[in-house]
Amino acid sequence: MALIVQKYGGTSVANPERIRNVARRVARYKSMGHQVVVVVSAMSGETNRLIGLAKEIMADPSPRELDMMVSTGEQVTISMTALALIDLGIKAKSYTGAQVKILTDNAHTKARILSIDQHNLKADLDAGYVCVVAGFQGVDEKGNITTLGRGGSDTTGVALAAALGADECQIYTDVDGVYTTDPRVVPEARRLKSITFEEMLELASQGSKVLQIRSVEFAGKYKVKLRVLSSFEDEGDGTLITFEEDSKDDNMENPIISGIAFNRDEAKITVLGVPDKPGIAYQILGPIADANIDVDMIIQNTGADGTTDFTFTVHKNEMNKALAILRDKVQGHINAREISGDDRIAKVSVVGVGMRSHVGIASQMFRTLAEEGINIQMISTSEIKIAVVIDEKYMELAVRVLHKAFELESA
Ligand code: ADP
Ligand code: ASP
Ligand code: MG
Repeated sequence: MALIVQKYGGTSVANPERIRNVARRVARYKSMGHQVVVVVSAMSGETNRLIGLAKEIMADPSPRELDMMVSTGEQVTISMTALALIDLGIKAKSYTGAQVKILTDNAHTKARILSIDQHNLKADLDAGYVCVVAGFQGVDEKGNITTLGRGGSDTTGVALAAALGADECQIYTDVDGVYTTDPRVVPEARRLKSITFEEMLELASQGSKVLQIRSVEFAGKYKVKLRVLSSFEDEGDGTLITFEEDSKDDNMENPIISGIAFNRDEAKITVLGVPDKPGIAYQILGPIADANIDVDMIIQNTGADGTTDFTFTVHKNEMNKALAILRDKVQGHINAREISGDDRIAKVSVVGVGMRSHVGIASQMFRTLAEEGINIQMISTSEIKIAVVIDEKYMELAVRVLHKAFELESA
């Protein structure tokens, strides 16, 4: 007997028939003698619909009230899933995040899980129940409902698996595993039988939304056995996230690059012609950090004339806020020649642990983009990743040509 956590995303619970399908799969696992905890997302489109409703009342909704609103999406699907199980003759109980007591900090709309009380769930599992838990939501110490950021049900699933000491966490979605890149953009993308935890972490942080980054962090920290699978197919092993490079299949022939991620979520802010002296980066980025705006890439170039150009990226939603801070609070001290923002950029990243032992990956990437006439605006690297910022209109082309250049297509 194993304890298994199964998380089902929005498309997997999009309507009553799909929810019945989820219940049938859970029933199969129960009949094999396993204990099952099910985590569900809201029906696909529902979280967006709820955010839209809140914005019809207030353009920039209060985060506490927004969490109250969006958490209702998952409350509907836990009940429907429990009902579908009961209808199949299986003992099942639904739980909101607060009922489990998934305790989070109070950073509404992007809260972090602090602890999970597994006492009630364990007692119900031992009494033969399937526990159906709402993804994406928690509760702070004052009892306020919080949410974990978009895609956060993945994190609920993995965190529950860690807290319960589950044997496996299965993430069921609308693709049958992790691919070399988003198969919706590159139809030739290939499913990976396994991927290392480090690579998955980079892909998720660079924009592959198949797993929320925090869920991968949890899996790494607590060594949760994590697998991505399709909820639309009964067969298939999906993709296993592994913790050892050696355990990858056909290690000798592993490609150097495992995957390509991309996103259009960032905007670029450029501050031109500031004095080149100690403290300038702090003067520019200090007030941005104080406003709780995350900065991703940063570039600074010093010219011969003793001035510096400073460029950094933030989330698109925060570009105007960051520009206002620079113009209102910072410009008076730094006297920049120009401060501007550009939200028509995209970031494309190639990821692979093989980069550690191979040279020339960056030049191959830059040559491939150059051959298509794609201009690179910014570059950042880590040991296992090279990311470039380009004009967003070339994003899909860049992903396709890189996918081909690194020979990632299916055979
Ligand atoms: P869910 O609602 O089940 O959480 P998501 O839409 O959040 O599903 O994530 C699944 C989607 O992630 C897929 O439909 C696919 O378009 C996208 N995706 C992006 N990158 C990848 C990748 N490398 N492998 C597989 N899917 C990917
Ligand atoms: N329903 C939430 C969202 O759409 C959480 C999730 O699906 O993981 O972001
Ligand atoms: Mg998701």
